[in-house]
Amino acid sequence: NNKMLLAKRPVGEPGDDCFSLVQEDVPTLQSGQILIKVIWLSLDPYMRGRMNDVKSYAQPLQVGDVITGESAGVVVASESSRFQVGDHVTAHMGWQTMIVADDDDPRLMKVDLNNGTLSAHLGVVGMPGRTAFFGLTEVGKPQAGETLVVAAASGAVGSVVGQLARTLGLRAIGIAGGAEKCRYVKEELGFDDCLDYKSGNLAEKLKAACPNGIDIYFENVGGDVTRAVAPLLNPGARVPICGYISNYNDTDITKAETPFHILKALDDVPEHRFFVVTEWQERWPEATEKLGAWVNAGKINYRESVGEGLENAPELFRGLLRGKNFGKQLVKIADE
Ligand code: NDP
Repeated sequence: NNKMLLAKRPVGEPGDDCFSLVQEDVPTLQSGQILIKVIWLSLDPYMRGRMNDVKSYAQPLQVGDVITGESAGVVVASESSRFQVGDHVTAHMGWQTMIVADDDDPRLMKVDLNNGTLSAHLGVVGMPGRTAFFGLTEVGKPQAGETLVVAAASGAVGSVVGQLARTLGLRAIGIAGGAEKCRYVKEELGFDDCLDYKSGNLAEKLKAACPNGIDIYFENVGGDVTRAVAPLLNPGARVPICGYISNYNDTDITKAETPFHILKALDDVPEHRFFVVTEWQERWPEATEKLGAWVNAGKINYRESVGEGLENAPELFRGLLRGKNFGKQLVKIADE
């Protein structure tokens, strides 16, 4: 088994010296355990937060720990009556190529391939898809005819937010980095518009694209984008605060100007922070089934960025935080 450990806490962007790849023998399975061959590793922005020595909704990693992460794979040996060899699973058990798990570990989930491909269970029908689904419907409380804005619109979460909003009768405006991502969001995901925040004048472009103001701002990025959005929020607007990736590499995130600081200037925008990992857990299967049905019916499109090999995961992770990914970032660990 190969594992990627946290070798050192990063300051700013995590360099190669923050990671160390180690090998170990796979232990013999005990009764009630399974062995999973990892096929896909998911890279997600939240991993950066876990590398800091700051407690948030989850404990931080300690130096020497396996880097946090969810992967998808196949059961290759089983001493459990709950899982058979050949079963597909997701496991939230870190950056590693083989996983030994107790069959009742809550970090394990069985995968039903009728809901989507194995890799889709790390993206559109998995955690990011659920984030979009619950964040929009439960926190955003969308109403037909309203205007929704979401940034990182071509990404794993944002792409689903906008497409779901469209199916609910909202006007969906995306924000993304670069002309090609914006074209994709408009033409292939069917958003009403998508604005390139890297080409300047975002505030003016937003004003023109949202003549009736903004009713829901689904917050993924923070920073300059949030500053451009804030003045256009209507009274009673909802701002599901999903994440704020533009701050994640800041040296001291507690001093960074997060959406909480920017939006505080607006008295009538309450804080709507949410964490999908700890909320709506009993409804996760429902979300996966619904998202799978929408994907199968062609109502939700998605895209994946695939890199190869655990040894390349640090560089791919840095790319994710810089926007080099185009859609859900995955690392292929082994053939299916
Ligand atoms: P994406 O697939 O959207 O990838 C990240 C994207 O963020 C990049 O492609 C880039 O897109 C954009 N980005 C990076 N830096 C900046 C910047 N400075 N300003 C604006 N955009 C930037 O990632 P996910 O869909 O997985 O995650 C999106 C957000 O959702 C993150 O904030 C993440 O932490 C959050 N999240 C929260 C969860 C929760 O439970 N609260 C669960 C899952 C995710 P571009 O090229 O368009 O700039």
